Amino acid sequence: MSGICIREICAWADEQAPFETQLGFDNSGLLTGDPDWPVKGVHAALDVTARVLQEAEANGANLLLTHHPLLFSARKNLLETDTEGRLLARIIRNRMALMSCHTNLDAAPGGINDALAAQCGLSRVTGEGFVRVGQLPQPMDAEELRAFLEERLHTVIRLMGAGAEKISWLGVSSGAGGEFFPQAQAMGAQAFLSGEIKHHHALEMAAEGLVALEAGHFATEEPGIFAFADRLQAWLRAQGSDVQVTKSQAGAYAPPLIPD
Ligand SMILES: [Zn+2]
Repeated sequence: MSGICIREICAWADEQAPFETQLGFDNSGLLTGDPDWPVKGVHAALDVTARVLQEAEANGANLLLTHHPLLFSARKNLLETDTEGRLLARIIRNRMALMSCHTNLDAAPGGINDALAAQCGLSRVTGEGFVRVGQLPQPMDAEELRAFLEERLHTVIRLMGAGAEKISWLGVSSGAGGEFFPQAQAMGAQAFLSGEIKHHHALEMAAEGLVALEAGHFATEEPGIFAFADRLQAWLRAQGSDVQVTKSQAGAYAPPLIPD
């Protein structure tokens, strides 16, 4: 028996990345389970999928820690005829709690965007909210930057636009952060990396001479949720708890996504 209950882990998460800071459309927080349950194990992942639930079950975890929440849109039934309904039913049958830390963790100090900046090898990092800008280890042209970031983020990156000058300052915004390029540019970024960049944003960036790099959600957000999992593990140890925080392997298979 660990002696740690779900409520205490929620309180720890709330200290690190206050749930009240989440955006209005978000659904971060404890979404299933009972705050009074003792924690047997924590399993961290970007998303709730059947693969992730299978991993959690195999690990004996009863708390899922994810970046993306379920129940993002209101539902009025719990039929098992759609993906989310099946996932929720399986979570409940297995007496699992689900805690999601989404936009509150994107913005938090040491959260998803700070972890992304670190993963990209940036120094002298500034920024707040959903944007970070920092200096690259050395100036590089757009193609060199793409190759550098593909190696750092372990993924394939789509490059759009190519400035003539060498790039020293990179702006980043995790996940669907393409819209934040003007903030990055105002902070001195010469290139901007996000998980998703819409075509019309890429066109604007090209017109502004800003190099756009699209790397997907896994590559831009998994470092952050796993860094958060590491911090939770360290905190649990400091509490004298032997609860294990495990990490999903689902991202190793992305892209492309493998059907569950
Ligand atoms: Zn995301």
